[in-house]
Amino acid sequence: MTNVNSINQCKERVMNVVRKLMKANINPLTQGNISCRDTETGLVIITPHDYPYEIMTVDDLVVLDIDGNVVEGKRVPSCEAPVHLSVYKKRPKVNGVVHTEPIYTNAFGIAGRPIEPCFVNMGICAGGAVPIMPFEDSGSYEFAEKMLKLMEGRNAIVWACHGLLTVGPTVEDAFKCTVMVEQGAQINYVALSLGTPYVIGQKKLDQLISLKEGE
Ligand SMILES: [Zn+2]
Repeated sequence: MTNVNSINQCKERVMNVVRKLMKANINPLTQGNISCRDTETGLVIITPHDYPYEIMTVDDLVVLDIDGNVVEGKRVPSCEAPVHLSVYKKRPKVNGVVHTEPIYTNAFGIAGRPIEPCFVNMGICAGGAVPIMPFEDSGSYEFAEKMLKLMEGRNAIVWACHGLLTVGPTVEDAFKCTVMVEQGAQINYVALSLGTPYVIGQKKLDQLISLKEGE
């Protein structure tokens, strides 16, 4: 059963995140992709493949079922849709996925250096250090399988030489995590030039995360 209202709301929310990412200068041109799972129907609303954000509207978004069949939409879905769908299958509490290509985060990925939780806001959003996945083609279910293993217990992962993927209970949470990780990467980069950054321990982070969840 499709629910037009809930799907339309998800489309608006995806477009809001698209606009916020553009404003934050995180995803220029056609880079990255954003999706939202409609909790009422289980359908996934995703940005189209290789289509400029500047001219994108709700009518350009594609609605997929969990197996990747196009339910609605005139455009080709993002080529990384298999990664988004695999996340939704594996993690039932996740309803938003954001893939971007921010500069500082990518620099850590290329250096093969996990982004440590030195900045507390980043640590809470990501769930700990952000792991790095070695470079490989990102459009397949096999890639998604490997990625999900590496990001167990985390809401963010860096694909080396490519970009960042964040997840959250909502697409807005995934967006917030994207901003926090890029900010965390910038802060760590500067801190590394000054000395040895202090890394917040996982135990302390877990405490802070459970406090946040109890709010
Ligand atoms: Zn990408």
